Amino acid sequence: MATLGNPTNTIAVLQKYNFNFQKKYGQNFLIDTHVLEKIIRESGITKDDLVLEIGPGIGTMTQYLAENAREVVAVEIDKNLIPILSDTLSAYDNVTVINEDILKVDINKIAEEKNNGKSIKVVANLPYYITTPIIMGLFESHVPLESITIMVQKEVADRMQVGPGTKDYGALSLAVQYYAKPEIVANVPPNCFMPRPNVGSAVIKLSRYEKPPVQVKDEAYLFAIIRASFNQRRKTLLNGLTNAGNLNVTKEQILEALEKMKLSPSIRGETLTLEQFAQLSNLLKE
Ligand code: SAM
Repeated sequence: MATLGNPTNTIAVLQKYNFNFQKKYGQNFLIDTHVLEKIIRESGITKDDLVLEIGPGIGTMTQYLAENAREVVAVEIDKNLIPILSDTLSAYDNVTVINEDILKVDINKIAEEKNNGKSIKVVANLPYYITTPIIMGLFESHVPLESITIMVQKEVADRMQVGPGTKDYGALSLAVQYYAKPEIVANVPPNCFMPRPNVGSAVIKLSRYEKPPVQVKDEAYLFAIIRASFNQRRKTLLNGLTNAGNLNVTKEQILEALEKMKLSPSIRGETLTLEQFAQLSNLLKE
């Protein structure tokens, strides 16, 4: 089977199997070798690695991963792609394809069984409709992870990377930056995909911290505070937290904590750094 990372070979496979794209699954297949090579390079995978690929499609990137990693596990939801994948990946004996929704897969079990519980690397051209649940699922389930190198919508990549004081800053920025160091490594235009998406894309690498950059007494409580602070963007932090209902604190306690942190009672959540959110969550937890 020829490599797929170009329009001619991709079209040939799609026609051979009479494949119809399913919009609901966010299917935009890569057709640009430069982008594929860049993703592989930036992911830093070696022959020691177990790689998890989310959404292999017709196997375009999977072929590159199989060449460069020790072993690849690829999880694809669309059953119509499974016969295609067994054809396009027939030359590789180090790839396992699982026909399942990635949000239902026990990734810890895969890491345990196939990698002795050692850290895995995730590489994917993600289906954009579930980018956030996939990333948060990977982090929150505490899968042993070294890095996640993924294609996402450009705007979402920006959100993951920015700090306070910008319009893109929010709960996703803080959650990602609590777990990993984000770095946008490439911007990718729509013409690198078939069919073309309506949005620009970017490859972002999230390198997992061994220990989070801030220490908190209760991780779940930190994230509850962060979510409450951004739920009502135009409200002050004080009102956001008071109205949340699940934080178990009074308005007076919040005011006291803000005063200890030398923050104004009218401050908005979007101006706080991760360190400040951590400090606030520790004060309110006292
Ligand atoms: N990796 C291929 C490539 O780069 O050409 C395809 C990428 S395409 C953007 C996203 C892929 O994810 C599609 O093959 C789609 O069917 C699959 N997908 C969508 N939702 C999924 C889910 N919940 N679990 C697993 N795969 C999913």
